[in-house]
Amino acid sequence: MSSAYRRLLEAARHLDLDPEVLEKLKTPREFTQARLTIAMDDGSTKCFTAFRCRYDDTRGPTKGGIRYAKDVDADDVKELALQMTLKCSLLKLPFGGAKGGVVVDANSLSIRELERLDRAFIRAFARVIGPDRDIPAPDMYTNETTMAHMADEYYTIVGKKTPAVITGKPVAQGGSLGRDDATARGGFYIIQHKADTLRLEPGMTVVIIGYGNAGMHYARLAAAAGCKIVAVFDSKGGVGNPAGLDIDKLEAVKSQGSVTGMVGSPGVSELSSDAMLAVPCDLLVMAAKENMVHAGNAGSIKAKVILELANGPITPEADAILEAMNVVIIPDALANAGGVTVSYYEWVQNRQGESWSLEKVQERLKTEMVSQADAVWAYAQEKNISLRQAAYVIALSRIAEAMKALK
Ligand code: GLU
Repeated sequence: MSSAYRRLLEAARHLDLDPEVLEKLKTPREFTQARLTIAMDDGSTKCFTAFRCRYDDTRGPTKGGIRYAKDVDADDVKELALQMTLKCSLLKLPFGGAKGGVVVDANSLSIRELERLDRAFIRAFARVIGPDRDIPAPDMYTNETTMAHMADEYYTIVGKKTPAVITGKPVAQGGSLGRDDATARGGFYIIQHKADTLRLEPGMTVVIIGYGNAGMHYARLAAAAGCKIVAVFDSKGGVGNPAGLDIDKLEAVKSQGSVTGMVGSPGVSELSSDAMLAVPCDLLVMAAKENMVHAGNAGSIKAKVILELANGPITPEADAILEAMNVVIIPDALANAGGVTVSYYEWVQNRQGESWSLEKVQERLKTEMVSQADAVWAYAQEKNISLRQAAYVIALSRIAEAMKALK
């Protein structure tokens, strides 16, 4: 059974649910698998397995990213699609949840091969997606260029420009201002708003695990606000500086390959990935992949607070260990919901033919994140449960309400 469904069963104990709700949410509404065939630059042909899962659409058309990863499988995509269903519900977005994936090492393809893959994905799934049916977005190892190719292929197939079919597009192709750093910014707003409650000072020490879109933007926002980024890790290793890492330099070396390129700069030491959870800090930002914190390593964590910018970085077993250690976890469904929230703004703008200012996007995002964070905190306190359980109960109760309204 998936971690998300296990947590859902746990949350259901706090609600007087119609058993039909859990029965429905046990399996996805629709799961499609396809073979993508593309021409490689050397003239050969290669096939890639691709998935799209529309988990549940009771609350609206399904929404969720597409990831390119060599180890993604059908079960991961289903689990992540269920998580999207809960996230959209928690944030009161008029969407159900979905996820897509392609089994591929994106770094092994050339730019042109990647474009062929992006377009092949849409040819395979054009019948599944649509502005009122299922709306993809970026996820791990996909970005705004991927979305531009995908949207363009979709327009060719349907014979019209329907930009609301995909979010996370480049601004020059109908994307929204503020979508690029929205995932990190949403989490950052929560930390700022709850700093006193969490006993975090403005100069707090921060460790960031994962330096993709979310981790990199979090580092930038936090450093600008006076936090000390004492360690950063990517898939190649980590770097640390107790006095705080220079974010501009970090971004420059990352664009050449890895954050480990910082080794040799004054005050910077190389850190082993094996010890990454054990670096002492006030705030640990998990911005890499799923299940990185598990029963075998949770005990080594030295942070006061964990912000889950990735989806599912902590297993249910590790949750229990961290709770006993009094580590506060700000759960993924809330912590990283800024991304899909601004995706929703992009969808609204596309449908209305508008383009909002950056100020308007950020202001609305802040209001939304703060108000949902307050709701989760208040519910957790009232019921004496964790923030994760509170987020699950709130999200599940809204889905149940929508199902009931159909009866
Ligand atoms: N992939 C992101 C997530 O997991 C964004 C999804 C979206 O914008 O639809 O939340």
